[in-house]
Amino acid sequence: MIACKTPAEIDKMRASAHVTARTLHELKHAVRPGVTTGELDARARERIRALGGEPAFLGYQGFSGSICSSVNDEVVHGIPGDRALKDGDLLKIDIGSRVDGWYSDMACSVPVGDVSDEGLTLLRVTEAALYEGIARVRPGAHVSDIGHAVQAHVEKHGFSVVRALVGHGIGASLHEDPPVPNFGQKGMGPVLRPGMALAIEPMVNAGTWRIETKPDQWTVVTADGRLSAHFEHTVVVTESGCEILTVTEEQRHELERANLHAARRGK
Ligand code: MG
Repeated sequence: MIACKTPAEIDKMRASAHVTARTLHELKHAVRPGVTTGELDARARERIRALGGEPAFLGYQGFSGSICSSVNDEVVHGIPGDRALKDGDLLKIDIGSRVDGWYSDMACSVPVGDVSDEGLTLLRVTEAALYEGIARVRPGAHVSDIGHAVQAHVEKHGFSVVRALVGHGIGASLHEDPPVPNFGQKGMGPVLRPGMALAIEPMVNAGTWRIETKPDQWTVVTADGRLSAHFEHTVVVTESGCEILTVTEEQRHELERANLHAARRGK
């Protein structure tokens, strides 16, 4: 059963997504060599609460952080702590908040200082793959159209898509139906309807798509020790396409201006 959110519910998700996006925007600017993942986590917790939200991940199935901080070969679910970031690290920050009972979830990959060419290419390809997937979200499309587009973009560049972890529906719970894989055939799975909200989150590896979980039972790493990147947005299906919810107010205004300009040009 996939819930279609009402306009009032989507407004609440938008408020939550604004808190999440604003906080992540600030965190990205705090990333530099020497900063610990625990310091970023403390800042996230403080900022989410100052903006009127509650960290969605804190205490989730016993998780101790308000963000997941995953470095280099760590794919997702890294536990923040006293690890100091080093020049050349590729950091993934995954963050979520709850406002008035409604959730948002987003992630991005951030270069720490000077990152290898492979790392920067992986980062760019993964972010572009997220937008390729988002571009398929519209009423009548199938969930698998998203993953098909993500996988095609990633594999065209010689990288691989993680199979064992997928995106998800989101709303009054952090994880709802449907699962949103980042791979597969077109035209499969549930049909998208206006009001459905999805967290789309390609996890892309430089080498094998295979992953392992570390003994801490949380941190997921690539099986071959090579780099991984992750980007995520929470989106909602609209009457004509979709709206990316996890943007700051400034980014939303920029998007609206761009759409207005595109409409004026007859696009
Ligand atoms: Mg997610």
